Amino acid sequence: MNLSNFLKIKDKIPPNVNILAVSKGFKSQEIKTIHNIGQNDFGESKFQEAFEKQLILKELEQIKWHFIGRIQSNKIRKIVQNFKYIHSVDSLEKLKKISNVALEEQENPFILLQVKFSDDPNKGGFTPELLISKWREILELKNIKLTGLMTINPKGLSSKDNSVLFKKCRSLADSLQLRDCSMGMSGDWKEAIDAGSTWVRLGSLIFGERY
Ligand SMILES: *Cc1c(COP(=O)(O)O)cnc(C)c1O
Repeated sequence: MNLSNFLKIKDKIPPNVNILAVSKGFKSQEIKTIHNIGQNDFGESKFQEAFEKQLILKELEQIKWHFIGRIQSNKIRKIVQNFKYIHSVDSLEKLKKISNVALEEQENPFILLQVKFSDDPNKGGFTPELLISKWREILELKNIKLTGLMTINPKGLSSKDNSVLFKKCRSLADSLQLRDCSMGMSGDWKEAIDAGSTWVRLGSLIFGERY
């Protein structure tokens, strides 16, 4: 973790694009280091690992935690209690459960729905068709702030193919009148920003290689 490296990356990201620092696999001390220079949004993908760091860092009240990992149904209550944003909501069933739990807990998380724009058997997510067909039902759900879509491109695509998929995400979000697209990681953030990302999720680019 190297601060001048982080500042260099930050310089390249337009001001209307938010940086989500993906701290999975990194220690709370490293989170603290970049929080000290103004980074407030941190993404984690495993509940238990995240929760341990949240306890250590609980005095840092400006930190906003984002859950970006696969959601296990039996962890939904804990995720709702401990994360302000959930980027990886990949089914209507889980979304409904999040809404019910949020109502009980009097929480109101920001929600991004994970969508897959290519046939990737390794990835969960709504297909665009399914999302559109369930849209009215989704809009009725309480205690969620639906702000956008999230997508993860398959590994190893060309820059051009990454762009094509990211543009599909942007255009679906626009047609549903959603502001946010959480797209772009360390390897494809440039294409994502050109296509209209509002949240780039950067792990290794900021923190270095994961242990
Ligand atoms: C790990 C992870 C990232 C960050 O990956 P890097 O390639 O290290 O930037 C982004 N999004 C999700 C969903 C992740 O699990």
